Amino acid sequence: MKLDLREMLAGAVTTVPFAYTLTPPDLSAGAPGRLWGVRFPAPLCVKGTVQNDAGYIHMTLTLSADYIAPCARCLADVSDSFSLTLEKTLTTAADAVGMDEDKLDDYFVIENGFLDMDGQLLDLLYMEFPAKVLCRQDCKGLCPICGQDLNQGPCHCKPEPDPRLAPLKALLDELNEKENNNQN
Ligand SMILES: [Zn+2]
Ligand SMILES: [Zn+2]
Repeated sequence: MKLDLREMLAGAVTTVPFAYTLTPPDLSAGAPGRLWGVRFPAPLCVKGTVQNDAGYIHMTLTLSADYIAPCARCLADVSDSFSLTLEKTLTTAADAVGMDEDKLDDYFVIENGFLDMDGQLLDLLYMEFPAKVLCRQDCKGLCPICGQDLNQGPCHCKPEPDPRLAPLKALLDELNEKENNNQN
């Protein structure tokens, strides 16, 4: 959504509250990193206020969403909600001219009296979404060999030897063999 800040910029109001829903990102074609397998059953809620304090324009915003995500260990669906709060300084496109890019990253830019922040909010969602969703803190996960859900009980697979330890095992075998030969 584009937030209309023209009245504020004209000095008619100092506060612009807003609340709207944002269409969740379309993840059907595959999702980057932490949004893998995540579904949003409802639109994301965006709520906040823009405040103009004698030319210093700043915003407080809360983005919240219900989501369903696969447990990082057993892949079971986990339903939870997520919210983040953001404080941002706003600047007009005219004032942004000449600002160096690093500095500009700290601002939301008002273009022709409107602020369109939805793209940035979705970027923020990609960055701030929980990196690891678990169905429960002590989820035992799936057996890497047979795929059995170990929360339902143990499987009958033998744990595979750790390949990193293979050279050590070879050395030990060699030593054992030498020892046996010496004894003979
Ligand atoms: Zn789990
Ligand atoms: Zn197994």
